[in-house]
Formats: sequence, structure tokens, C-alpha cells
Amino acid sequence: MKILLPAPVLMALDQLERGGHEAFVVGGCVRDSLLLKTPDDWDICTSAMPDEIKACFSMCRTIDTGIKYGTVMVIIDRMELQITTYRLDSAYSDYRRPDQVFFTPSLQEDCRRRDFTINAMAYNPKGGLMDFFGGLDDLNNKRIRCVGDANERFAEDALRILRALRFSSILRYRVEENTAFAIGNNKQLLKRISVERIACEVNKLLMGDNVERVLTEFAEVFGVLLPEVSFCTLRKDVSGADVWKHTALSISKAPLDLPVRLALLFHEIESDPPHSALAARRTLKQFKYDNDTLQKTVSLVENQSIYIENSNASILRQFKRFGSDIFINLLELREACLKGRQIDREQLNLVIACRKKAMEILSGDYCWSVSQLHIDGNDLIEAGLKEGVKIGECLDLLTDHVIQGYVKNKKEDLIRYVMNILDMDSQTSHIGH
Ligand code: ATP
Ligand code: MG
Repeated sequence: MKILLPAPVLMALDQLERGGHEAFVVGGCVRDSLLLKTPDDWDICTSAMPDEIKACFSMCRTIDTGIKYGTVMVIIDRMELQITTYRLDSAYSDYRRPDQVFFTPSLQEDCRRRDFTINAMAYNPKGGLMDFFGGLDDLNNKRIRCVGDANERFAEDALRILRALRFSSILRYRVEENTAFAIGNNKQLLKRISVERIACEVNKLLMGDNVERVLTEFAEVFGVLLPEVSFCTLRKDVSGADVWKHTALSISKAPLDLPVRLALLFHEIESDPPHSALAARRTLKQFKYDNDTLQKTVSLVENQSIYIENSNASILRQFKRFGSDIFINLLELREACLKGRQIDREQLNLVIACRKKAMEILSGDYCWSVSQLHIDGNDLIEAGLKEGVKIGECLDLLTDHVIQGYVKNKKEDLIRYVMNILDMDSQTSHIGH
């Protein structure tokens, strides 16, 4: 078994060994390498104590932020490496992080504290793969299995429940039987985990290939995070489909876009879109999502049922109303939703055709917002717009008329056109009064 390590990683291992210490790459990077994926980062574990790590890298820049837990960040050739002393984790009183860290001289002990067998392997070029808990076998059999007693491991740290589901979703792995059973036993402990950490795992989980299965198989876990889910599993929607199954299938059909997938998660969580949108807002606030994700998601849930027509003018009107990106997200949501229902082929074709047209419009020379008009407020004033007429409303109206094709988006045409309207208007109604 050979893993190709980047030069800075090899240098770090070598430097620690020259100092008389053991050193291995460990965890996610070993797992990803064995899966022939490029790891995001390379974590190193070592028998060296934190001050010894620093002594080995006196010629490099080191950062001490994690030093309390035994981690020193070393920067070699601009690569940031987390180097951590072998450690055990003691009792977890707040269900979040270890109270205290105990260092150990044993690599095996360091691997034992890790969550799943596939994440508990270490490697270095001399020693080869160090696999104390059958990680390679589980990798080959596509299994998520706890290191040690699953019940104890989830009770120590309930975030591992969501990590298990996240890996199952992303890697398309089954959760091994005992591990799955222990997840069911300990799911209530998720209530003690910080909302930010939960959201981070859920976001990753929603993007996985196996998301449909994970959501349906572990619906009870999601019911702890979001009580409405438990009702969804019992409800049927207007088409007679099981709401939660439909939700899970729809998400799996959507593009890898977080607001779209979150919106699908909430789209039928209540009996109608306005109530579902309220539930989405409340939940995303509770889980401290950033404002941009929250606004987009809520808007998608709220407007999920807008009228869709396959014409340039209609699409331009929707672009103006929602913004092009949100409207395209709405089409993506609708498409995923219809694919998750598998009955209305005609509607689905319409939505797909609309999305195609919307993309063409987006890359073409079209106008759907005031900022794209080829005149602005100053042009209107110069043209002698009468006092009292509201410039903003005038530009907005012009945009509508460009969309409808009543006037071309050309400066002279627009000015002539607006003056004509205002002349006529002064005898009838009153723009801006
Ligand atoms: P990725 O980085 O792809 O999200 P990862 O497995 O590398 O996945 P990290 O959070 O980077 O996850 O953690 C690195 C390693 O630390 C893991 O592979 C695992 O060995 C260990 N680990 C992380 N979180 C926990 C936890 N909650 N309980 C036990 N071990 C953990
Ligand atoms: Mg990692």
C-alpha cells in the first residue's frame, strides 16, 4: 500500500523522524487517498510533544492556536500542516469537546479516539498503512463503522451521529448495523450540540449522492433537529405522495446549490408555501445560517408555486421581479420537485424549456432591470422631464415597456417614448403624484 504524499508533508514527516519522533499522516487524508481523491488537507500525528514539534520546525513559521489540544500549525512552502501530538480524549462533560487532553506515546491509542474505522488509519512511507481497527476492510465494503463501542462513542460526542450520516451520504456507504442502532439510541443527544456545527454537517450531507437514502432511513434523527419532519413522515401531499419521501427524492434531483437544496428540504414541511416559508425562516435563524442563505432559501420556499410561462417576456418579468439568479433557482427547485414526483411529464418539460430559455436570455443582450436601461435619471432631467414626476417610477415603467417590447432599449427611442407617455399622461392620470 503506497500513498503519494506532497513534498511539504514528506518534509514534515522526515523532520519529526530526524528529531527522534514517530510521525504519520492520519484521518481524512488517508481515507481520501485510499479512495483516490485529493485530500483537502493533510493532518499529521506524532509522538513528539507540542514543544518538541516546535523545536523540530524552528526554521519554519509555526502557529500556536491549537496548542492546548496538542496541535501546532506548521507552514512549509505555503502549505499549512496541522501537526498534533498523539492523544487520548478524556470524558466529555459538555458533549462538545474534551475536558482535558491526555497525550500518549501510542499511535494506536490516538487512532482509537477517532470516530469511524475509515477515519482511523495512519500512514507513513516507512511503516506503510497503520490500520488497527479494520478501516481498509470497511472502506472496501463501503461501511461506516464506529471505532469501539458505538453507543459509547455517540454518547461521548453526538456530533459523530451527523458525521456518520454525512459520510454515508457523500461516499454512498451503508451505516453498519450496530452503528446505525446506536445512532437511533443516542439521537436525542444532538440537542446538546451547537447549532453551527450541526448546520455545517447538514449542509455537507445535503450535497451527497446518497442523500435520499440517508434522509429517509434516518428520518427520526432529522426529527430531533426539526420536529416538523416527524409529521412529514406521516403526511401525504396533494398528489398522494408521502411528503418526506418526496422531499428526500427531490433533494437528490437538485443541482449542488445549498439554498435550492435547503428550500426543497422545507418546501412541504407545512401545509402550504407561506407556512413552510415561515418554518424555514424560523429554523434557519435558529441554526444561525448566514443572512444571504436564509433570505434566498425563504424566498424560494415562499415562491415555489409561481406561474411559469415559456416566453421571453414572461421570463424577463420574473427576472425583474426576483432577480435572475433567484428565478433560475426557482426553476431548478421546480424541476427537482417534479422529478421527485415522477408524474407530470408535461410540466417538467415546460420547466426544463423555461430554464433553457432563461439561460439564453442571461447570456444574451436583454434588459430586465432599471440598471440595464440605456438611459438614467440624468438623461430624463436633461430631456426636460417636468417637475414632480418621479424619476424612479418613470425608469421602472420604461423597463416594463422594454420587456413587453413596446420600445427598444436605445437612448433616443426611450426618451422620445417617455416624453410621449408623459404628454398623454398629463391630460389623464398622474405619474408620480
Ligand atoms: P473532511 O475534512 O473531509 O470533512 P475529515 O474526516 O478529515 O473529513 P476532520 O473534521 O477534518 O474530518 O477531522 C480529521 C480527523 O479527526 C477525522 O478523520 C477523524 O479521524 C478525527 N475526528 C474529527 N472529528 C471527530 C469526532 N467528532 N470524533 C472523533 N474523531 C473525530
Ligand atoms: Mg479533514
